[in-house]
Amino acid sequence: MKPSSTPFKFAITFILLFTVFNGTSLAADIKPYKVALVIGDQWQDPASFVVDVHKQGSSNAYAGATTVDDEFALLVIMLKTWGVPFEIIRLDQEFMDINRFVGPDGKPDIGCIIFDADTSADLQPQRYEVLEKAVNDYGISLIALGDRIKEPVIQDLLGIKYVGSWMHSSSLQHSASHFITNGLANPLDYTDDTGTAKKRVQVQLTEAKPLITQGTYPQVTVRDLPSGARTVWIGGDIDQLFSYQPCRTMLRRAITWSIGYSLYKTWQNKAWLIMDDPGSAQNAWLEHWRYPTLTEQQIEDRLIKPLKQHNAILIMNVVPGFVNDRLKRAEPAFQRKFTDGFGAPQDYPSTYRGLINGLKAGVFEIQCHGLTHMQPDLFSPPGPWYGSALEKERAQVGWYREFGDTRRNKEIPAAEASWRMRTAHTWLQHLFGVDTLSFRPGGGGVSTSYPNCTERLAALAGYGWAGGRSGYLGQDFAIRGWAFYGTMECPLSVAAPPDGHDKGIAEHPEQFLRAFTEHPNVEWIGLNEYIACTHTKLSTSPNKGLNLQLSYDPHYCRHFKDHPSEWLLSVSDWLAKDLGRPTINVDGKTLIATADLSKPLKIKIPPGLGAHNIRIK
Ligand SMILES: [Zn+2]
Repeated sequence: MKPSSTPFKFAITFILLFTVFNGTSLAADIKPYKVALVIGDQWQDPASFVVDVHKQGSSNAYAGATTVDDEFALLVIMLKTWGVPFEIIRLDQEFMDINRFVGPDGKPDIGCIIFDADTSADLQPQRYEVLEKAVNDYGISLIALGDRIKEPVIQDLLGIKYVGSWMHSSSLQHSASHFITNGLANPLDYTDDTGTAKKRVQVQLTEAKPLITQGTYPQVTVRDLPSGARTVWIGGDIDQLFSYQPCRTMLRRAITWSIGYSLYKTWQNKAWLIMDDPGSAQNAWLEHWRYPTLTEQQIEDRLIKPLKQHNAILIMNVVPGFVNDRLKRAEPAFQRKFTDGFGAPQDYPSTYRGLINGLKAGVFEIQCHGLTHMQPDLFSPPGPWYGSALEKERAQVGWYREFGDTRRNKEIPAAEASWRMRTAHTWLQHLFGVDTLSFRPGGGGVSTSYPNCTERLAALAGYGWAGGRSGYLGQDFAIRGWAFYGTMECPLSVAAPPDGHDKGIAEHPEQFLRAFTEHPNVEWIGLNEYIACTHTKLSTSPNKGLNLQLSYDPHYCRHFKDHPSEWLLSVSDWLAKDLGRPTINVDGKTLIATADLSKPLKIKIPPGLGAHNIRIK
C-alpha cells in the first residue's frame, strides 16, 4: 500500500462507518442468518460437547419430558431441529467480546443474539456494554429470555426496566397484534390446571411495545432501534415456557423477525416407526426373551405388505454380529439355521432375505443397534456366559447389553465401545450395503461417565443420531436426552406395535397394524431424513441481496443425494415490505416468479449433495 493513500482510505472508511453507524442504511441491509446463544453456567460439560437434557441425578424423566432442569438444552434442541445456524457463547468460560459478533471484515457475522445468561451466576468477568455496541453500532438484534435482564445495558436495549420476579398464577395473554404472536393460541401457556403457580417477571415499560401480558405485567415486548436492530424480551416462566407449543413458535418467529427472515424445518404430522433387534442372538439364548427369528415369508406378510399399503417406512435397528456360543466368537449375523436349546427353529438366513426384500422395496431403513447386543466380555466371572446352562448364567439379562455392563454393574471402556460402534457400521455395510447414521444401544445399556459416555463416543464414531433415550449427535455436540416428540419441533416416535421389537411381530403379528389405526394421519419418515436436516449447514451471503446457501455434506446429509428436500422460508413484515413480490430462484431456476411473502413459503430443493442456492430478488 502506498503511504499517501492511507489518509484518503481513512476518510472513506470514516464516511462509510458514519453512514453505517448513524443507523439509516443498515435497516435495509440483510442480516446474517446466524444466532449467538449466550448462556451463563448452564452447560454442565466443561469441555462443551455433551448437552444433557436432564442433569446428573435429576428426578425429571430422562427422555421426552416437558419438565426440565433448565432451558438451555431445550434451546439447543429447538435451534437444531428448526435448522437455525447458531453458536454458543458460555460466559462461565468465555469473555464476551465484540469479535464474537463481528467478522474480520468489520461486518456483523451474527444476525441475532439470544441472551440466556443469569448474570448473577459465577461467570468470567464480563463487559456487558459489548451488547450495546453489537446492537447499536452493528445492527445485530437481541432476544433476551426470562429474568436474564438484570444488567442495566440489556434493559436499556430492550426498552424496559427490571423490577423483580415473583410467582403468579395468571396466564400469558395477547395484548397487541404483531408478527411474532399473530394467530397463536390465547393464552399462550394453555393448561388444564387452574391456579398453577408460575414465575412472572415484573418490568416497567420505557421504550418497548408490549405484546403479551401476564396479569397486569407485560411479559413479551418488542422494540425497533435506529440501527436496524430489533430487540425482543420473552419473559414468563423460563422453566415451563418451552413446554408450550405457542411459546416455542413465538421464539422461532422472534428469531425470524429479529433477523428479517429464516429458512427452517417444522415436523408436525411426521412420525418414525421403529423396531429393534433383528439379527441378535438373544432370542435363541435368553429364557424370558425367546422366540423364533422372523422368516422371509413372515417379514413379507407381516411387515412389508402393510408398510407398502400405508406408504410407511419402518426403521429397523439391526444387530450385524451374532454371538456363536460353540465357536466362542461373534460372526456376521444371519448365517445360521438351527434349533435352539428351547426347541425353537432359528432360520437367520431367512430373516436376512426378508430384510433385504424390505430394503429393496424401500419400506425398511436399516440402522445400527450395536455390534452384538451382548457384553464384550462373555468369558470372565460371574460367567463365563459361553457354554453356560440355559437356566443359569444364560438367563441373566445383563449379558445381553453391550454398551453398559449391567451384569457386573460396570461401564464398558471407551476404546472397546468405540471399536464396537465402528465395527457395527462396517458389518452392516457388508451385510446390507448401507451406511447407518443412527445408533441405538441394545437394551438401552449405556455408560455415562465422561470418558465412556456412549452418546459422546457414538458422535465421535460418526453417527448423527442416538436412538432410544437420546438425540442429535454431531461433530459439534452430542445431546443426551431429547424433547418435543410429536410436535412441530420433532416427529412422533412410535415403537412398532405391539412391543417395538421383532419379538412382538413373531408372537402377535396382527397388532402391528395398530401403528396405522392409532396414527392414521401421519407421514412416516426415516431417521436419515431428519439427520440430514439437522446436519444441514445454512448460511447467507450478505450485501448481495437475500441469498441463502444450503450445504449438504456427503456423510450426514447423504439422504439428499437421491431425495429432494423442502424447507420453509419466512420473511418478517418489515423486510417483506422492502422486498415487495420478489422472484425466488433455486439453483438458478425460478421456483416462484412473484412470491407472496406474507406467509411462509415452501422451498423445494432438488436431489443432490453439496451446495444449493436460494436467491430472493
Ligand atoms: Zn434391542
